[in-house]
Amino acid sequence: MLLLIKYLNNWYFVLPIQIIAPAKTDKAGAVYACPMKCEGDKTYDKEGSCPTCKMDLKPGKN
Ligand SMILES: [Zn+2]
Repeated sequence: MLLLIKYLNNWYFVLPIQIIAPAKTDKAGAVYACPMKCEGDKTYDKEGSCPTCKMDLKPGKN
């Protein structure tokens, strides 16, 4: 769901969920997760490898 907000004569798309629950990480949107979903929806804020299957973590969005 997107909100369309007019501000300073420009239109902006806003994701309400980001206003209600801002990301815990400083770098918004930069999360990494195991491509095999070994740990479900668990994400990491750094590149690396999955501790379970050792595959490289893939960048994705929260
Ligand atoms: Zn894994």
